[in-house]
Amino acid sequence: MRAARLLSGASSLHILDVPMPEPIGDAIRVRVIGAGVCHSDLHVLDGAFAEMVHRPVTLGHEIAGVVDATGPDASDLEIGTPVVVMVGWGCGSCAWCVAGHEQLCPSGVEAGSHVDGGFAEHILVPHRRHVVPLGRIDPLDATPFGCAALCAYAAVRRVQPRLSGGGSLAVIGAGGLGQHAIHYARQLTGAQVVAIDPRSTALVGALAAGAHVALEPGAVTPSLVQEVTHGLGCPAVLDFVGSDESLALAATLVGRQGIIALLGLAGGTLSFGFDTLAAEATITTVVAGTIRDLHDVVRLAQQDRYAIALTTYPLDAVNVALADLRAGLIDGRAVVIPGDSGR
Ligand SMILES: [Zn+2]
Ligand SMILES: [Zn+2]
Repeated sequence: MRAARLLSGASSLHILDVPMPEPIGDAIRVRVIGAGVCHSDLHVLDGAFAEMVHRPVTLGHEIAGVVDATGPDASDLEIGTPVVVMVGWGCGSCAWCVAGHEQLCPSGVEAGSHVDGGFAEHILVPHRRHVVPLGRIDPLDATPFGCAALCAYAAVRRVQPRLSGGGSLAVIGAGGLGQHAIHYARQLTGAQVVAIDPRSTALVGALAAGAHVALEPGAVTPSLVQEVTHGLGCPAVLDFVGSDESLALAATLVGRQGIIALLGLAGGTLSFGFDTLAAEATITTVVAGTIRDLHDVVRLAQQDRYAIALTTYPLDAVNVALADLRAGLIDGRAVVIPGDSGR
């Protein structure tokens, strides 16, 4: 089968023929219908996370497809079942995994960095619990579920308690993850959603996803924050960028006892002292989500046909997709289609 591989020392992907993986035990093989292109892929190409990227490796961690083969212990999962693939794979037996937080498993692995991912015609998934059946949802439409939607949903769920009294939720970065977060914030909270992004196309997408206010970062002045939040600051801020600038902005936005949830991997830092944030505010990271969260994402999608715009590329054009994402040309999500999806 064909796969887009990151080779040792390379900063772009190479399309190579690799052996077809065969599932054993509880493992399953998924024929990939769509694999999303994520900003974290760009960070990997730039040499970030070197200790967890086991080159040579097939990139791609946001994957949907159909079950193509099963190991003998997963044979009750029907061949042809459309599924979305969980982004991180825990050991299944440590305290974190038993508690349902496989994303925090100390010996967990991630497809597309530790082991081969979804920029390939097929992917081997080590246990059937790492996939969620899609029912009647088209796997191509479900491609963003495994990273963009899952991370956004987990982020909104994390900050949701702070928004029980209403108030403003600031979403910094309104690309694929940010637009999903805006959608979930509107579904799950009564918050006023304020999207912040320097790209005008992203702001248009943010408004389409349900944001009440869409602003360029330069427009976010202290007096505007006072006005928009009625002098209270934001009870919750989601930072999908993670640069020095976005974290500094988040720090100016968050209100007393508010929360900043950081998901962006741009590598920025925020120096912390007693007066860095409003009184008793909290800052936390959100690492993907749980398998239960992914089931929720699928269930919500079955109730509400929200879908961000997809820009599709054949496997041969995976480097073009990555370059387009880097150039800021993708409004919703770039998706690689390794095989003929029928579209
Ligand atoms: Zn991702
Ligand atoms: Zn574990």
